[in-house]
Amino acid sequence: MARVLAAVALLATTHALVAPKTHTTRVAPSRAVADLLKDAKLDIPWLAEGDAPAENKSPERVAAVRARAATAAKDAAELRGMLTGAADSDAWWRSPPPGGAGSERELTEDEPLRVLVAGGGLAGLVTAAACHAKGMKVALFEQASSYAPYGGPIQIQSNALRAIERINKDVYDELVAAGTVTADRVSGLKIGYKRGNKLAGLYDKGDWLVRFDTLGPALEAGLPATVVVDRPVIQQIFVKHGFPEETVRIASRVVDYGDEGGCVKAVLEDGTVAYGDVLVGADGVWSSVRKIMHGLGAGATADAASGAAGGALDDAEARAMARETVRVADQAQRRFSGFTCYAALADIRASNIEEVSYQILLGDKKYFVSTDGGGERQQWFALIREPPGGVDPEPTAENPTPKLDRLRREFADGNVYAADADGKVWDGFALELVEATPECDIKRRDLYDGAPLLDNLDLKRWWSPWADGRVAICGDAAHPMMPNLGQGGCQSTEDGYRLAEELATVTHTKDTSAALGSYSRKRVVRTSIVQGFAQLGSDLLVDFDLMMTIPLVGPFFLKATQLSMPWILRFLYTPEF
Ligand SMILES: Cc1cc2nc3c(=O)[nH]c(=O)nc-3n(C[C@H](O)[C@H](O)[C@H](O)COP(=O)(O)OP(=O)(O)OC[C@H]3O[C@@H](n4cnc5c(N)ncnc54)[C@H](O)[C@@H]3O)c2cc1C
Repeated sequence: MARVLAAVALLATTHALVAPKTHTTRVAPSRAVADLLKDAKLDIPWLAEGDAPAENKSPERVAAVRARAATAAKDAAELRGMLTGAADSDAWWRSPPPGGAGSERELTEDEPLRVLVAGGGLAGLVTAAACHAKGMKVALFEQASSYAPYGGPIQIQSNALRAIERINKDVYDELVAAGTVTADRVSGLKIGYKRGNKLAGLYDKGDWLVRFDTLGPALEAGLPATVVVDRPVIQQIFVKHGFPEETVRIASRVVDYGDEGGCVKAVLEDGTVAYGDVLVGADGVWSSVRKIMHGLGAGATADAASGAAGGALDDAEARAMARETVRVADQAQRRFSGFTCYAALADIRASNIEEVSYQILLGDKKYFVSTDGGGERQQWFALIREPPGGVDPEPTAENPTPKLDRLRREFADGNVYAADADGKVWDGFALELVEATPECDIKRRDLYDGAPLLDNLDLKRWWSPWADGRVAICGDAAHPMMPNLGQGGCQSTEDGYRLAEELATVTHTKDTSAALGSYSRKRVVRTSIVQGFAQLGSDLLVDFDLMMTIPLVGPFFLKATQLSMPWILRFLYTPEF
C-alpha cells in the first residue's frame, strides 16, 4: 500500500508540475495529431520517406518483412560475419597497445583508442558501432555460439532512433526501412476482464482506461517515429553496416579482467587474453563485468536468462535456467520483479491491427501486453504474478500443451474455460493471440530488474556508478528494467551513444578513466527515472483493481495516469541524452 500511495503522490506531483491542457479518457487517435502537425508544415522527413502505414500493410510489404526476419534469424543462428576464433590469431587485441603494458600514450589517427566490448546484445552492438564511428578500434566478444532471440521483435522508440541516426546514418536508414511504424496508431491500457472488479459499473472488458499517442511527443521533439524491428534483423544490420567485418568474436565469454597499468586485460573463458585501452561490459543483466566491478559474490553471474539473446534454446534449458536464476539473482543483487513472463510472436493479422499498435489488458495479479510486430504478426507477453523459479510441467499424453493450457485458464474468455480461477471473464483479444501461437514458440522466463537508484552507501559508486578505471558497464548490465515501457533496449542505445561521445574527447590514454566517469554520471539519473517508472508501472498495473476500491483515490489515480502519460512520453522522447 505504501508503494501505491507513493505512486499516487508521484503522479499527482507530475500532474501539478506540468499542468497538461488536453486529454480525457477518449484521446484523439494519433493519426489526427500527425495530420494536424503535417498541416502546420513541420519538417517530418520520415513521413515522406515512404515507410508509412499504408505501405506497411500491403501484401508485398508483409511478405518482405517476414522473409527478411526469416533470413536474419537463420543468419543470426549461424552467426554470419563473425569470427569463431580460429582465424584471429593475429588480431590487434592479442597484444598490449603500442608502448606495451604499463605505459600511457598519446592517441593518433593511426593509433586510436582500443575498445573491448563484452556482450553482443543491443547495448554491445550499438556501443561497438558508436565507437567505430568515432574512429576507435573495436573488438566485441559474445559468449553465445548460437543466438536465441526471446520475445520476437523490439520497439525502437524515437529516442533510440535518434541516437542511432547520430551514430551511423546507414544503420539508421536500414532500420527504418526494415521497421514497421507503430507510432501511427493508438497505444494504451484497457481493462482486461468483466466480473469481480469495482470498475464494472463504469467499464466493460476491453474498454480503454488510458490512451496515449507516441507520435505527437516524437514530432514535438523533432524525432523520428517509433518502429518495430525483429531482433535478428537489428543484429544483422549492425554487423553489416555498423563496423568492419569480423569485429564480433563468438563463443567468447569474458570471465575476468584486470588493469595492466596503461591498458586493460580481459580474460576469456578459454584462457584467451585480450588487451585494450577500455573494456565495456554490455553483458546483460547477469553481467560478469559488473560482478567484478562491484565486488559481488562468485555466483553473481551465470549463463542465465537475459534480455534478448543468450537465453534458453529449448524448454529443458529454460527449466534449468529458471531455477539457476533464483540463486544467481540473490548474489547479483537483482530484484525479482514478482512476475513470470510468457512471450511469443504470433503469426496472425490481429483483429485490432488497424487502430491499435500497443495495448495492455489489465487484470488482477496479471496483465497481457501485445504489440504489432510488423508483417502481420503480433508480439505478446503475459505477465503473471507468482514466486520465482516456477516451471511448466512437461507435456504428457493428457496435456500435450501445458503452457497453452495455463494461458487458456489465466485469460479465460468463456470459450475453452468459462472464467479464470477468480471467476473473471477476459476480453477475447488475449486468447486470440495465444491460440494463434504454437506451444513450442512460447518462451517463459522470470523477470528481474535492478534498484532504480543506488542501493549502497559506497561513495565511490555514488560518484561513478557504472565506471571504474578503464572499465564501464552499459545496457541491462547497468540498468535492467521491466519491459512495459519498451525502453530497456532504447536506454541501452542511448548509453552506447553517450559512451562513444565521452570517449571521443580522449586524446591521451591517461584520460580514459575520467571520460568513463563522465559517461556514468551523465546517464545514471535519466536511466534511473525510466527504470523506476517501468518498475512502478508494472507493480501498479496489477493493483489497479485494488486501487479502484479506495474512494476518491481510485478515480484520482486513473485521471492522474491519463494526464501524466503524455508527459512521461515527452520525458522519454528527448533529443538530448
Ligand atoms: C518481453 C520483453 C520485451 C521487451 N521489449 C522491448 C522493447 O520493445 N523495446 C526495448 O527497447 N526494450 C525491450 N525489452 C528490453 C530489452 O530486451 C533489453 O533491455 C535489451 O535487450 C538489453 O540489451 P543488452 O545488450 O544490455 O543485454 P542482452 O540483450 O541481455 O545482451 C547481453 C549479451 O551479452 C552476452 N553475454 C553475457 N555475458 C557475457 C560475457 N561474460 N561475455 C561475453 N558475452 C556475454 C549475452 O549472450 C547477450 O548476447 C524487452 C524485454 C523483454 C523481456
